[in-house]
Amino acid sequence: MAAVEASVSPRIVIIGCGIAGISAAQRLFSHGYRDLTVVEATARPGGRIKTTEFGKGLVEIGANWIHGPSKENPVFQLACRYGLLDAEAMSEENQAIETKGHPPYPPVSYSSSGKIISFDECLPVRQLYESILAKAGEQRFRTGNGPAASVGEFVKTEAAEEMKKWRNVDKEKTKLNHAVLNTLLKLECCICGAHSMDHVGLASFGEYESLPGLDCTFPRGYHSLIKSMMKPLPKDIFSFGKAVHCIHWQGSFQGNSSSGRIFPVLVEFQNGGKLQADHVIVTVPLGYLKHHYRTFFHPPLPSAKVESIQKISFGTNNKIFLEFEKPFWEPDCYYIELIWEDESPFADVKLDLQKDWFRKLIGFTVLQPPEKFGHVLCGWIAGYESEYMENLSDDEVLNVITQLLRRFTGNHPCSSPKKVLRTKWHNDPYTKGSYSCPGVGCTGDNIDVLAEPLPAVDQVVHMPLQVLFAGEATHRTFYSTTHGALLSGRREADRIIHFYTAEKLNSKL
Ligand SMILES: Cc1cc2nc3c(=O)[nH]c(=O)nc-3n(C[C@H](O)[C@H](O)[C@H](O)COP(=O)(O)OP(=O)(O)OC[C@H]3O[C@@H](n4cnc5c(N)ncnc54)[C@H](O)[C@@H]3O)c2cc1C
Repeated sequence: MAAVEASVSPRIVIIGCGIAGISAAQRLFSHGYRDLTVVEATARPGGRIKTTEFGKGLVEIGANWIHGPSKENPVFQLACRYGLLDAEAMSEENQAIETKGHPPYPPVSYSSSGKIISFDECLPVRQLYESILAKAGEQRFRTGNGPAASVGEFVKTEAAEEMKKWRNVDKEKTKLNHAVLNTLLKLECCICGAHSMDHVGLASFGEYESLPGLDCTFPRGYHSLIKSMMKPLPKDIFSFGKAVHCIHWQGSFQGNSSSGRIFPVLVEFQNGGKLQADHVIVTVPLGYLKHHYRTFFHPPLPSAKVESIQKISFGTNNKIFLEFEKPFWEPDCYYIELIWEDESPFADVKLDLQKDWFRKLIGFTVLQPPEKFGHVLCGWIAGYESEYMENLSDDEVLNVITQLLRRFTGNHPCSSPKKVLRTKWHNDPYTKGSYSCPGVGCTGDNIDVLAEPLPAVDQVVHMPLQVLFAGEATHRTFYSTTHGALLSGRREADRIIHFYTAEKLNSKL
């Protein structure tokens, strides 16, 4: 741990107190930087890590799992160091399992005609889907010269070709295969946070890197990680309820103290306050940037940065928690899948949100064990339907889902939920969606451009690195995850640390 030895220590403002912002603060603090402020628009730390009470236990409004909990994953490393995981999650066996981000257990599949469809009945189409998805991630498509622009188009073209060759498949079975394929594409929309897989770019899809390990949760909530990360940091570096309105850079701003220091950056808050800085690390979500980049920076961002903000998608994936008096599912059930038998990815359907929003609900994960959570299901819904759902009342949602469950379970007497809790990430003014995903026409280079600091070190200016960019959307291979966000915060902190280390070396030469 090297302490910074500048005669006056640089003033660094971190915007956003999510995991990216906190990890940047941790890194800088551990290297001796003391003039740090983390400003956060809301009244709480954590951002898209948010744990709350529901049923008998805790539920996650934002991040749920450590994706790929194994040695390479820095969130897993921290969670182990802080003693936040149970023994099973930390076991070598758990760390060796590969799921590629998909639910590890076979689902219990209910159909819209109220039947349970056995997993084996549709195994060939599930296997076909998996193999096509693996192919979609291959290196050869990364140039953007693949056979289709989007993952959705690619899956549909390949599946149609392959399914033509299947013999002894009658009309009914073909219909069911199409319905299952459609369900799997909807699940992928939740994983990617996209409205449709037709909106997810094939060229960059394969850049996402999955780590080994069976996804695990935090027994005391994801928020226990945020608390542990903040604990060693001085409380007074955090400032809540401070929404930034505009970052003025390339300037000469007089500091408030008598030292007469001049700073290149001025952070202007929505409530009118101001804070001068040498460096600002911006960790606000891409959804926020998409809405505010025109007024959030002065002078405005360079066009390449704007292009990246526009090309990288930021969609919505929401959860609907339901509590039941008694379960209608079996005790060993982990995931309930809903298959609409009349749907097909090959059909052209006009979107009618009011009439059909609930069709996008892919199913439910079962919160296990019931002794800890009560009888609670977590429904998943992505895309425009998810955004539409946010504006309905709890009663409307509860009503629609009760009818839906009655239909799919064949009127099981326990299928009426008694309580509902929904996430509303699209309406959150400081997030405006759930997580990032490369859209059609987007490449990994767009993500790197978003992560570039302004001005860069090699540009001849009086002060480089005035505005730096972190947050999940700036990580080329781990975007959309907590570990991607954490690494991005460390990356930008290191950029500042290296700059001052190099400067010190140069001054000694
Ligand atoms: C429903 C859902 C499920 C998820 N599931 C998982 C999962 O299982 N596993 C996983 O790894 N990841 C998951 N994620 C993604 C993960 O939560 C994020 O990638 C990660 O938390 C992002 O961290 P961040 O620090 O980049 O951004 P954030 O946590 O969003 O932090 C940014 C902060 O900036 C603040 N801010 C915004 N505007 C301003 C402003 N003008 N002034 C001041 N502050 C501002 C925000 O309030 C916020 O606190 C999920 C996300 C969602 C929404």
